[in-house]
Amino acid sequence: STTENADSVVVIGLGRFGGSVASSLVRLGHEVLGIDENAETVQHWADQLTHVVQADTTNSDVLRQLGIKDFARAVVGIGSDLEASVLTVLALEELGVPDIWAKATSVKHGRILERTGAHHVVYPEAAMGERVAHLVTGKMTDFIEFDDGFAIAKTGAPKEAWGKTLSESALRSKYGVTVIALKQTRADLTYAKADTIVEPGDQLIVAGTAALVETFAALT
Ligand code: ADP
Repeated sequence: STTENADSVVVIGLGRFGGSVASSLVRLGHEVLGIDENAETVQHWADQLTHVVQADTTNSDVLRQLGIKDFARAVVGIGSDLEASVLTVLALEELGVPDIWAKATSVKHGRILERTGAHHVVYPEAAMGERVAHLVTGKMTDFIEFDDGFAIAKTGAPKEAWGKTLSESALRSKYGVTVIALKQTRADLTYAKADTIVEPGDQLIVAGTAALVETFAALT
């Protein structure tokens, strides 16, 4: 019934991406139906997900028989087989699944998925590549960018801030970034306050537009 599956998620294509989404959802306490056409893959996930089914999801009759129309959310992790990815999203859309997420391997693939009915298109490889680019330069130890160009990064403190309180160094008015928290050597993360003194070697958690956060990290 509808209520029974209201909090459940169907994950289609249990490859590296879909498998990771499915197992994380289980860990977060959700019921997950995993579907894959490959028997070995289905076997692999059988005891880790709530339910697993071996099926070709490009056929909407198959999805109908599996009761997929009662699911509030679906994630399509099929990537390399473009035709299967698109036909699966189309079948989910035809069944009226209200929240369809799909993985795209290219911008063109993503555009097709949006036109076909995906409500959210994700580009895991492009997103991770961008993140690694920020990390590999050595200026940031973590970087997360949100859809609207806003970012949060973990980075060192610029020399000009050493030995001063945050209010004295006035990083926000100078660089347009807000220091949210500090990680001092061998200490826990603490929320930043106006009177927090920044020491050499401290890691700052800073927020702002991606461009300003990048400029700020480059100072360190
Ligand atoms: P990843 O890079 O995340 O591993 P892949 O595209 O390689 O992604 O894997 C997608 C998964 O989707 C594979 O396990 C494959 O068996 C499955 N798959 C592909 N086509 C279909 C389909 N028509 N129906 C169901 N599962 C499919």
